[in-house]
Order: sequence, then C-alpha cells, then structure tokens
Amino acid sequence: MDDKQICFIVKVTTRCNLACSYCYEEKTDEDMDLSVVESLTQKALAATSRVQFCWHGGETLLRGISFYEEVVSCQKRFRGEHNKILNTLQTNGLLLDEDWYAWFSGSGFRVGISCDGPTCHDINRKTIAGNGSFKNILTTLSKMRETKNDRLCGGLLAVVTPEMLEHSENLLEEFILLGVKKLDFLRYKAPDGGLSTEEYYGFIRSIFNQWLKLDDASLKIRTIDSTLNYFIRGKSRLCRYLGDCKRFLTVRPNGDVYPCECLHGSSMYLKLGNILLDDLNDIYRKAGQVIKQHKLPPSCSDCFFTALCRNACAGAERLEGVCLEKKMFFRDISNLVQTVREKNVNAERRSWLWVAATLRMILQGD
Ligand code: SF4
Ligand code: SF4
Ligand code: SF4
Repeated sequence: MDDKQICFIVKVTTRCNLACSYCYEEKTDEDMDLSVVESLTQKALAATSRVQFCWHGGETLLRGISFYEEVVSCQKRFRGEHNKILNTLQTNGLLLDEDWYAWFSGSGFRVGISCDGPTCHDINRKTIAGNGSFKNILTTLSKMRETKNDRLCGGLLAVVTPEMLEHSENLLEEFILLGVKKLDFLRYKAPDGGLSTEEYYGFIRSIFNQWLKLDDASLKIRTIDSTLNYFIRGKSRLCRYLGDCKRFLTVRPNGDVYPCECLHGSSMYLKLGNILLDDLNDIYRKAGQVIKQHKLPPSCSDCFFTALCRNACAGAERLEGVCLEKKMFFRDISNLVQTVREKNVNAERRSWLWVAATLRMILQGD
C-alpha cells in the first residue's frame, strides 16, 4: 500500500433515532463488534502511516461513550510512532449532551453535525414518530457553543434537496445565525437521480455569492475553501479534486469493505473483502481495480478546468450532459483569486487566511 492517507468510513451501527426521508442506509439494526474495530485498527495502522477514521452510521452516538473509549484504547495499542490518526465522527446531534462534549473535548475527535438549516431541516429530517428534529439541533448547537471549544465542532453538513433550492436566497445567513463558522453542502442523491450537477452547482454559486456579500472571511464553506485552495496553491484536500477514490473505503458493521459510500447504488459499489478475513493490501488493490478511471466525456476534454475537476467524483457528480454551472463556479473562484493576486505579489506561497484578509480588503473597497 502506498503511504498516502487512507480514510475509512466506519459504519458503527445501522440503527438510527431519526427517519430522514432521504436516508439510504438500510436499518438492519446491526452494531459493529469490537473485534471488527480491533482488526481494522491493527491492519490500517500497519499498512499506512496516516489514517482517518470517519465514524459513521446509522446514528453513531447510539453506541455510547464506552464504545468510543474502546476505539481509542485500541488505537493506543496498535499505534506506531510513525502513525498519524484523525478521528472524525458524524452525528445527527440528537444525543449530544455534556457528557459527550466532555468526552469529545478530551479525545480530540472532530464532530460533524448533520443539519439542513432552519427552513429546510424539518422537511426531511424527522423523528421515527414523524416530528421535526430541528429544535433538538438548536439546543445541541447552543450547548456546543458554551463549551467554547472551537475544534470540537467539525462543522455542519447540509443536504441540498430540491426544497433547499427553492429557499437558497439568504440561506447562508440562516446558517450563520445558528452560530456556525464551518459548513458544507452535500448533493442530494436518490434512486431517481436526485439533484443534477447543474442544480447543485447553481446552488453552490448562489452560496458563494452570499459568502462574498456577507464579508465574513472567517466563515468556512468546505467546497468553496477547497476550490480556493486549489486555485491558490494548486492542491486541495477535497476528495472530489484528488481523483483517488480508492483511498476512501467503507467498512460495514460485519467488517465487509466497500468503496466510498458515495458510490452506493452504482456498479462500482462492490464488496472488496472483509477486514476480519482479508489482507488490507489486497482489499486496497481490489479497490483500485473496481474504481476504474473513467474516460472523460468529449465535453470535458477541451474544458479549461479539466486538470482540477476531471469530472472526478465517481459517485455523485459525473456529468450528465451540459456543464455550465460547475464551470461557472470554477470561473468565479479563479476570477476571485486572480483579483486577489493582482493586489498582492507572491500569492502562491500564501495561505487561505491571506486570501481571506485580502478579500476583506477588496470587499471594503480598498
Ligand atoms: S440521521 Fe442519518 S442515518 Fe439517521 S435516518 Fe437520517 S440520514 Fe439516515
Ligand atoms: S467542469 Fe464540467 S466540463 Fe469541465 S472537466 Fe469538470 S465536469 Fe468536465
Ligand atoms: S466517489 Fe466522490 S465522494 Fe467518494 S471519494 Fe470519490 S470523489 Fe470523494
């Protein structure tokens, strides 16, 4: 296995205390056994030095603090001096309380909360009894702010649904009023196709314009941030721009390993092996064979942004035909970076924080 970071999306349970209308997880009430955690940890840390464990569900917090204590103790046991571990956890936030905050603060886990914002959340994110869950998220976020631990909240993740498209105007402001500084928007996927690339990038452009107007450079929107990074420094950590999807593997509760969750429903979402039984190097090799480099459609081959985009997200974003909004989004960002560069030399060596500062200067009419 090469020594690049590998990200494991670890499905610790398929149980959930919500019944979101867009959920594709089969609620088979399966919990991951600690033997699977142990085998995954041991094999992952032996195979490569940088590992991200993205704890996922179902609802991750249903496993209780004791489960994650075992996770951390397992990592301590198998960690070598060369290993760097990043733990991220995605939750619907309903069960977050003081005990969890205290535990997460001490463990260094980064917690991402799924939230579709004040207007849209309750449309799709309902409890099993059919009630909205937004009120619970509000309580969660206000308690999280009280901890004054900025690193604790890895950000909000919102799903861009057709309803959200209808309310996209001033949407960013709604999220900011929740007190969050980091967020991102995921494209809604459904068996009938979900949002088109055009619709999604039209929405992202609207968010980008709102972000410019808000004049708050400390507000980080991952898709915008990562694209800015690419145009400034020629690299980005967003998987969509890495073009190396085999580095993202899903581990099911029984140890079965599949490619990235985003490929769910596609012909590439094939079982690659089982972490209890198989060699991780073999699983990784198989991932490389299954997630084939696809041929760029003719419309991409003469696109100015091919080097960045390559129509690369095998799961969510493959081009269906026209590609206007996505190209326009890249153009918006590259124009912004160009404007910033004209105001300052040696831009390549500067960070995104520098862009933020210069951006502020531009917005203030300097
Ligand atoms: S919180 Fe996540 S796992 Fe639970 S129903 Fe909603 S989308 Fe599915
Ligand atoms: S921006 Fe559109 S046309 Fe250009 S490479 Fe990406 S998907 Fe292809
Ligand atoms: S399929 Fe898409 S979301 Fe998954 S790793 Fe590849 S680029 Fe990322």
